Amino acid sequence: MPVIIDGARIARELRARVAAEVAEFVAEHGWAPGLATVLVGEDPASEVYVRNKRRLAGEAGMKDLHRHLDASASTDDVADVIRVLAEDDAVSGILLQLPLPGSMSSASLIDLIPPGKDVDGLTTASAGRLARGAEGFRPCTPSGVMALIDSTGVELNGAVAVVVGRSELVGGPTARLLLDRNATVTIAHSHTRDLAAVTSRADVLVVAAGRAGLIGGEHVKPGAVVIDVGIARTPDGLVGDVRFEEVRRTAGWITPVPGGVGPMTIAMLLQNTLRAARLREHPDAGWAG
Ligand code: NAP
Repeated sequence: MPVIIDGARIARELRARVAAEVAEFVAEHGWAPGLATVLVGEDPASEVYVRNKRRLAGEAGMKDLHRHLDASASTDDVADVIRVLAEDDAVSGILLQLPLPGSMSSASLIDLIPPGKDVDGLTTASAGRLARGAEGFRPCTPSGVMALIDSTGVELNGAVAVVVGRSELVGGPTARLLLDRNATVTIAHSHTRDLAAVTSRADVLVVAAGRAGLIGGEHVKPGAVVIDVGIARTPDGLVGDVRFEEVRRTAGWITPVPGGVGPMTIAMLLQNTLRAARLREHPDAGWAG
């Protein structure tokens, strides 16, 4: 039977570490890191995500600098809010909650976030820094995936890693982070032929396709680390991209859904926000702009 990777516990421990470091930071510098979440409209799922981020930031001792704009806000209105937050010294990190309503384009708005406050790691500048292996903020979900893989103690150096999905948010940056750790990385996507032949070579398999139940036993090498990023809401509750009951018979380590990658994303956001606050105290980090 595989080890079930307890993302909820690992995330809780990481948040506790961040909270202790925030307390030290406040004692030393006299101010608390501030997280500005920006929510546009009333999408119920986004409201839940933002509420959780604000609550856990508060529990870690950070300042909640949330902004809410209603669904009638224009792109210029959102841009104005982000520009003000970008200039505000109390704001360590800015997170624009996606998706944005209607046809509002997120890319140009995200790029208004200065690199040193890009705690979600999604600006073009951060993506470029990741692609070049330069210092910068890494996206939260891929960072959480890496922390879960590391929790297994499995050596990534020289391992065969397969990532299913190539999005800018998850699959793409996860593949890059695995490559930076010297794994031999293959990215599969919706045009990949014979997915099982590709994924069953993986010592480490990360699945971020957004297709519930896509991955079964035939896709998994015996003893592999299987990280399931997918989340789908079904009448039976939340499910991932991996058929958990089937794959647990083959895998060496596996993340559950819920309670796997999900909680790690917020923990990484808090870690990035603390790092952003430290950057303000050490402006010699020129890249933070
Ligand atoms: P996305 O932008 O829709 O990207 C999905 C990727 O999967 C695409 O690259 C797509 O290929 C590929 N794909 C789709 N169907 C496939 C198939 N049958 N075989 C192989 N590849 C396939 O989604 P995303 O934003 O990356 O998110 C992926 C999943 O992770 C979603 O379920 C999302 O809800 C979840 N998620 C979870 C967290 C968390 O905190 N746990 C955070 C973010 C996202 P093409 O490029 O060819 O279209």
